[in-house]
Amino acid sequence: QHNLVSNYTFSNFVEGKSNQLALAAANQVSENPGGAYNPLFLYGGVGLGKTHLMHAVGNALKLNKPNARIVYLHSERFVADMVKALQLNAIADFKRYYRSVDALLIDDIQFFAKKDRSQEEFFHTFNALLEGGQQMILTCDRYPKEIDGLEERLKSRFGWGLTVAVEPPDLETRVAILMNKATQARLDLPPDAAFFIAQRIRSNVRELEGALKRVIASANFTRRPIDVDLVKESLKDLLALQDKQVSLDNIQRTVAEYYKIKVADLNSRRRNRSVARPRQVAMALAKELTNYSLPEIGDSFGGRDHTTVLHACRKIRELRETSSDIHEDYKNLLRLLTT
Ligand code: ADP
Ligand code: MG
Repeated sequence: QHNLVSNYTFSNFVEGKSNQLALAAANQVSENPGGAYNPLFLYGGVGLGKTHLMHAVGNALKLNKPNARIVYLHSERFVADMVKALQLNAIADFKRYYRSVDALLIDDIQFFAKKDRSQEEFFHTFNALLEGGQQMILTCDRYPKEIDGLEERLKSRFGWGLTVAVEPPDLETRVAILMNKATQARLDLPPDAAFFIAQRIRSNVRELEGALKRVIASANFTRRPIDVDLVKESLKDLLALQDKQVSLDNIQRTVAEYYKIKVADLNSRRRNRSVARPRQVAMALAKELTNYSLPEIGDSFGGRDHTTVLHACRKIRELRETSSDIHEDYKNLLRLLTT
């Protein structure tokens, strides 16, 4: 019981400039577990292939050594298991289990933030595995130093091996990924149709897969071959929605420009009024104009807590009643963003 996804392999992973370093590092780790880089720390935005790569290493290790104990789990699961172990008075078993593995793959470790007891346990597990030469692979949605609520000693240890970023794929890589998925599905995807999808869906690989699935479904349904026209038809609603949805990026850029500050200031820790007020305005606009949740909005503003966003929304609502300046600013920004 290793929880590895069998089709997240190296051979199903398309290489591009954006993931080249991460892929090379993962390859090395699979050839020399515990010896090349320990831990291997992959970070980057959602849907960029971090989980896939980590499973690819696990699958390769398993192939080389079928009896190896490779354990993959999400960090939330680690936390939940630990809490259960505490309740059942079985923390010694918990420790023994995690220390007995040949490789430990823990996904999305940003969920360890503010969970002090879990961090404590993980710290000890980490040290034991490192000492035992057992490979660890960790992923995170941001650079370790930027995780609020994570102990310094963990942050520093995460950097002891190799830390690599996974970036969003460029156009050519997006096309290559689509062609690869089509081949796997034994599907004839003409290059111009692939280019059309890749040009319009730019955010991440998961979205790209979603779009391709829609196209495939409508090709099956209408019994038509895939071409640009079919792609346009089947993605019409998706693209219209995408065009309409104001992106968080766009909100940050517009607000920064309006107040003549930098986007980086909005995401920084700076608290002086000239930055803090525009930041609150931007958060309130994000809540009003997008479907993102409070935690997601907080994340996009330099990894802030959802309560900070909630506070910003309340504060701005109040100020729109009491301050004519804020009232004007908010009205202007709404207009800039929605027309
Ligand atoms: P993350 O963990 O970074 O959020 P995932 O590893 O879950 O992203 O990837 C999202 C989806 O995109 C998965 O189905 C994965 O197989 C696919 N994917 C991501 N990058 C690639 C790639 N370079 N080649 C092929 N498939 C990819
Ligand atoms: Mg993932």
